[in-house]
Amino acid sequence: MNEQKNPKKPLLYYITIVILIVTLLNAFAFPTMMEEQITEVDYGKFLSQVENGQVKKVEVKDTKIAFTLNGESKENVYVTGRIDDPDLVNRLYHAKSNIEFSRVFPKEYSPLVNFLLTWILPMAFFVGIWVLLGNLMQKKMGGGNFMTLGKSKAKIYVEAQTGKTFADVAGQDEAKEALTEIVDFLHNPSRYKSIGAIMPKGALLVGPPGTGKTLLAKAVAGESKVPFFSISGSEFVEMFVGMGAARVRDLFKQAQEKAPCIVFIDEIDTIGKRRDNGGLGGNDEREQTLNQLLTEMDGFNGEKGVVILAATNRPESLDRALLRPGRFDRRVPVDLPDLAGREAILKVHAKNVKVEADIDFHAIAKSTPGASGAELANIINEGALRAVKCGREKVMQIDLEEAVEVILAGYQRKGAVISPKEKQIIAYHEIGHAIVAAKQTESAPVHKITIIPRTSGALGYTMQVSEEENVLMTKGEAFNRIATFTGGRAAEELVFSTYTSGASNDIEQATRIARGMVTRLGMSKNFDMMALETVSNQYLGGDASLICSPETAAKIDAEVLDIIKTAHEKAINILKDNMNKLHELAAYLVEKETITGEEFMGILAN
Ligand code: ADP
Ligand code: MG
Ligand code: ZN
Repeated sequence: MNEQKNPKKPLLYYITIVILIVTLLNAFAFPTMMEEQITEVDYGKFLSQVENGQVKKVEVKDTKIAFTLNGESKENVYVTGRIDDPDLVNRLYHAKSNIEFSRVFPKEYSPLVNFLLTWILPMAFFVGIWVLLGNLMQKKMGGGNFMTLGKSKAKIYVEAQTGKTFADVAGQDEAKEALTEIVDFLHNPSRYKSIGAIMPKGALLVGPPGTGKTLLAKAVAGESKVPFFSISGSEFVEMFVGMGAARVRDLFKQAQEKAPCIVFIDEIDTIGKRRDNGGLGGNDEREQTLNQLLTEMDGFNGEKGVVILAATNRPESLDRALLRPGRFDRRVPVDLPDLAGREAILKVHAKNVKVEADIDFHAIAKSTPGASGAELANIINEGALRAVKCGREKVMQIDLEEAVEVILAGYQRKGAVISPKEKQIIAYHEIGHAIVAAKQTESAPVHKITIIPRTSGALGYTMQVSEEENVLMTKGEAFNRIATFTGGRAAEELVFSTYTSGASNDIEQATRIARGMVTRLGMSKNFDMMALETVSNQYLGGDASLICSPETAAKIDAEVLDIIKTAHEKAINILKDNMNKLHELAAYLVEKETITGEEFMGILAN
């Protein structure tokens, strides 16, 4: 990277400024800076004080007189301005009081020392400050040499080899297949050229966070054995208008020189946001950067073998111009892994740690629906940490099982004090969930029940693990899930005739499913297949907003309430029919604190 094309010229410029400042300081500041704090009195007053015997000590410095009064501390020095009185010594000598008097000559430095003190030292001081400031700015702004302000110094990471291959990416077979074409093209551009095929200039990887988009981009570079330029979108957005655009220009210039290569823009949504939603006049800097990016993408010659990859988890917010043909016209979805994918990802990461031979990765994958690749990698690591904590050499099944719960619900709060009464309520609550789940068809089997509190705030939980992973949810399943969520509170009501705050999370979840049924899934009585809500960012939690009149909104609320009420009644009825088992299981759970699905089913069935 050629950061300082011409550093001599600006340096000279700055040195001139420093010299100017030092000269001014020497002329005005230093002469007075040398002297102590003084109060000036006129010569007449001084003489009268001498005559009255008030003066203790007099020093003649150069052409000035410094004197100290009787009874005053030494530091009080008064100077009488410039005088030359030939009679002065006489006057002092004959004064009433005894006056110490002396003449002080200014210290004479050798010319060399003098020069060092007045010129070199201050200059070194300023240069030091300059360098310090420059470094600070560089850190703050993420690049940008202080002396060459304005010239782009993008933090572009060039990696000759990323060291990642497709083998490192598990469970993303469709995405890998889509990208294989790009790898092939980078290996052999001429073959594509000879047949007249134009490669897509860019591919956009879209998907939720942690699914391996960055990893995939690196793997593409690794597989094609070409240089990998990577930059994060947020690094383009600069403090100064125009810098971001300069960085884009720089990036593409470098890429052209190194072709064939891959340019990877991570989190492209930070610059590629739609331009019209400006609000308060928009963001000029970002817009310029985006425009520059569009220009560069149109301008460069794809035949040379520069492929642009970009990643985002908010594709819906991207500017349409970025998505039109000739730009990021390939869209590669990188979704959350399915059951087989999760198992594969666990195995890939387990290669980096020592594990027992009999680990059942399938079981772990089954108990982690909805987990991303990053979370699964984290589970393996948590498991390894736990194995170390337990003093083991290898990771065991139990380590991974506990790691899953840590990721899902946080760490165990061993020290938490829970009164016996509350412990009992929590046990009934959890058994309530479990019995309702078990007594319904179209409901996942109970895997584990625990009343050990977790750092996430959960006081206990019931884990359900489905036998196989379904991509579809029937109306019956949705309704049964709501009933299961209400089961905890139902048990509390039946046994203690009270309500506790323990059901807050259940209430939230049940409501969300019920709302989804009515507004988005077409599972309602009144609205048939009408869409009543839009989901704004599907990969980031999925905030939904209503798109209907206030009257309809009121009807939606009524229907959601109706669904939840019916489910709640169902749960109460199931528990009423199984009252004996509820008591028996709750007592067992209080005693054991954690029970497995088999233990639970064993007691429930006999
Ligand atoms: P994203 O860019 O989609 O947010 P990353 O590529 O940064 O996700 O993934 C973070 C980490 O999670 C990776 O470094 C890797 O360890 C792990 N990971 C994610 N997805 C996968 C996968 N499909 N296979 C293997 N590891 C994965
Ligand atoms: Mg990423
Ligand atoms: Zn609950």
